[in-house]
Order: sequence, then structure tokens, then C-alpha cells
Amino acid sequence: MQQRIKDILHRGQLGDRVTVRGWVRTKRELKECTFVNLNDGSTLAGLQVVIPNTLAAATPWIKNLTTGAAVEFRGELVLSPGKGQALELHAQQMHLWGAADAESYPLQKKRHSFEFLRTIAHLRPRTNTLGAVMRVRNACAMAIHQFFQERGFLWVHTPIITASDCEGAGELFTVTTLNLAQPPKTPAGEIDFSQDFFGRRAYLTVSGQLEAEIMATALTNVYTFGPTFRAENSNTSRHLAEFWMVEPEMAFCDLKGDMELAEAFLQFVFRSVLDHCAEDLAFFQERIDNSVMATAEQMASQSFARLSYTEAIQILEKSSRPFEFPVAWGLDLQSEHERYLAEEYCQRPVIVYDYPATLKAFYMRLNEDGKTVAAMDVLAPKIGEIIGGSQREERLEVLQQRLASQGLDPAPYWWYLDLRRYGSVPHAGFGLGFERLVQFMTGMDNIRDVIPFPRTPGNAEF
Ligand code: ATP
Ligand code: MN
Repeated sequence: MQQRIKDILHRGQLGDRVTVRGWVRTKRELKECTFVNLNDGSTLAGLQVVIPNTLAAATPWIKNLTTGAAVEFRGELVLSPGKGQALELHAQQMHLWGAADAESYPLQKKRHSFEFLRTIAHLRPRTNTLGAVMRVRNACAMAIHQFFQERGFLWVHTPIITASDCEGAGELFTVTTLNLAQPPKTPAGEIDFSQDFFGRRAYLTVSGQLEAEIMATALTNVYTFGPTFRAENSNTSRHLAEFWMVEPEMAFCDLKGDMELAEAFLQFVFRSVLDHCAEDLAFFQERIDNSVMATAEQMASQSFARLSYTEAIQILEKSSRPFEFPVAWGLDLQSEHERYLAEEYCQRPVIVYDYPATLKAFYMRLNEDGKTVAAMDVLAPKIGEIIGGSQREERLEVLQQRLASQGLDPAPYWWYLDLRRYGSVPHAGFGLGFERLVQFMTGMDNIRDVIPFPRTPGNAEF
């Protein structure tokens, strides 16, 4: 039976007969034999395969044994005289599944830039870095589900197509089947979306939160984990047009409970990835960012700092740092401010809470002071905001006032307001950008390199 290289490297015994399939990373021809490094994506390290000259001579397709080819080997595990591995595979039979044109294969042995690799997203998963990213991503996803499942949260599936702009923030992609060359028009000359597929204008969702609140006010503790879309035309290393978001929502929970959950959640995920992907993290530590391991250990074991927004502003005002953006109570924290707080002032992740109401969405719960809302952001060193959350406004009249003060039409929110009419309870939740988490964990500079097929302005190939 075919075995995965990870299992062979971890559990293989001298003398085991094994069959492996994978893609050739490198080939070295020596006088007595040929060495192939074979990788099947199960682990960072490939399996060293030794092909004796007698086998090579008896193989008509031997010239096709090149970097990039898909090959199967059968043979026996023997002690490896070389360094780097305890055992190697002494090949007795081999089979070519798919040749790779050696002249044009773009992944040569030299290191390629991540920019270049993005242009060959169909082949870049075969590189060490992208392979390691995908394994860490998978381990993060597993850990996220495990964390919530062990605590009795239900995974709920919120819609991708939605008619409500959750944040009132714009930046939405429209979903339409109207004839774009000749769209129907209203008497006022605007596009008549009432004739569109859904009988109204529809969008790709920017968040599952409002629907998650529906589910939490029936099922108590829920979470979403799915794709989210923002048509923001910002070419940064932290923004994608399509990304994955994790959004827990808890009934009978206040901001304090929300912050505690966010902290326990991140600690759990980091611990789990340290346990399951140590080899990949060590790779990132060595090749990408030499603080990866220390950061992961710190995230897994240390408590987070906490600062109110008001305290954070005071700290920033007192710092001698020449910030590019102004600092004053009532202004939003920019990435440089967030990073200063986490990296320098606290030297660990910090949760900033109780933001000015004017900066935050209408659904965040108004505090006693009438000026701030029960919002919180988890700020991580190097990344800045990784989680944004809040306690939700559960009082009907206050919520109606908040909609009005933000100039929002309450009509489309009738069902959201209904939740405050029928069995309303304090509830809270947060949103974690999944790719930001993977980026933070791996130390990768650009968010485009932690998702298999990044969607950004101008880029939707593959
Ligand atoms: P930012 O200020 O960084 O743009 P935001 O305030 O727009 O973030 P939220 O609306 O609170 O973010 O979304 C919740 C989480 O989703 C954020 O904490 C972040 O981790 C992630 N996120 C937001 N926008 C993007 C994006 N365009 N690409 C990837 N992740 C994102
Ligand atoms: Mn944003």
C-alpha cells in the first residue's frame, strides 16, 4: 500500500518495504547511483530515494526523472550514510505517473521571490514555504473547530449572498444577473434592482455576524467559519478581497466574557499548532522570521495585556514616537499605533476595549458613559488588529437610536430589531480574520502568501 512520507520518516523501521508516490524536488546523479528527493506534501522534509545504476539502466523513461515529475517508488528502507536523515529508500521498482517538461518547469532549485510565486499559484504549493503554510493553515482550522466543539458551540452556516450591508460600511461586491449592457432603469434613471434575481440588490457578505446573532439567541453559543468579501481597494499586505472569518457569538455574555473567550481561543490555537506543526513552525523561524517560535510560545502561554481605549490614547500621547497619523481621543487607532501598543508598550498581545461610539458600528453596546461602546480589538505584535469584537446592543430603544444617529434606515433591520423584542439577552462575539492569524503564526509578510488563491484588486487568476 502507498504510504505517506511523513509516516515513513516518523515511524519507518529499517528493512520496511514501502511504496511512495510524490513529486521530484531534486535529483543528483552520482557515479554509483542517483539520489532523488521526493515530496508528497505530507511533511516539509522529503524522502531521500536512492536509485541504483542497474535500476536506472533498466528504466526506459529514466530521462523523464526530472524535477517536477510525479513518480512512484517501491523498495526497502535502509540506513542513510548521508546526514539529514536516518533512513532512505533503496528503490527496487519505479513508475512514472507524469513527466514534467524539465526545460519549462518554473520551479527550479533556486529560491524564488514570493511575488513570482504568486504568478504561478498552480505550482507554488509544491514549494517548501507554501506547503508549510498550507499545513499550518489546516492545523489552525482544525484547532478552531476543536476549541469551539469542546465548549459546546455549534458551527452555523451563514449566507454568502446577503441583502444587508452589515456594517453600513460600503466596500461590498454586488451579485447580479442583470444584463450589464442594458440594465433595467427606474424612472429616476438608476439601475432597477427590483428586477434583479433576488428582487433587490444583493451582495457578497462582509460578515456573518448579524445572522450569527439570530442563531445565538436560539442556540446560545455558535460560531461561523466561512468566506467573507470586501471590495476595498486597498493594496496592503494585510487585506484580501476574499478571506475567511471566524465569528463566535454567545448569548448571556458580556464584553468581559468575550475578551476571555478571545484570549483562551488564541492560546488554544497556538498551542495546538505548536503541538501539530512544530516542524513547519521551525521552518518559518529559520527562513522567514526568527521570532516565530517565541511568539507562538508567548501566545500559547502568556495572558494578554488589557487597556481601555482611553488609556491607550494616553499612552500614545505620552510616547516620544513620531507617529505618521495623529493621536487624539475620538480618532481611530492606526496600524502604527496598534503595533506600538502591542510590540513596544506591552510587548505582548493587548486587548483594547471601550472605544468611542462614533468610531464603531451601530450594533455595539453603548456604555454607561454614553460616549463609548463595549467594543474590543485584540492587537498582535507585527500584525496589529487580529480580532475585532463587541458586546451587542440588546436594548431595543438604544439600538433604534444608534441606527438613527448613524443615519441608517431601520427598515431593512426589522428582523435584527425583532431579536430585541422577543427574548432579548446580553450577547457578545468577535470576528477573527483567519488569514491574519495564519500570517501572524507563520511570520509571512504578505497575506497573499497564506491563502492558496489570493483575491486582490486586479487579481483573480487561478
Ligand atoms: P482593518 O482595520 O484591518 O481593515 P476591519 O476593522 O475592517 O480591519 P473587521 O471589520 O473588524 O476588520 O473584521 C474582523 C476581522 O477580519 C479583522 O480583525 C481582521 O482580522 C479581518 N479582516 C478584515 N478585513 C480583512 C481583509 N480585507 N482581509 C483579510 N482579513 C481581514
Ligand atoms: Mn477594513
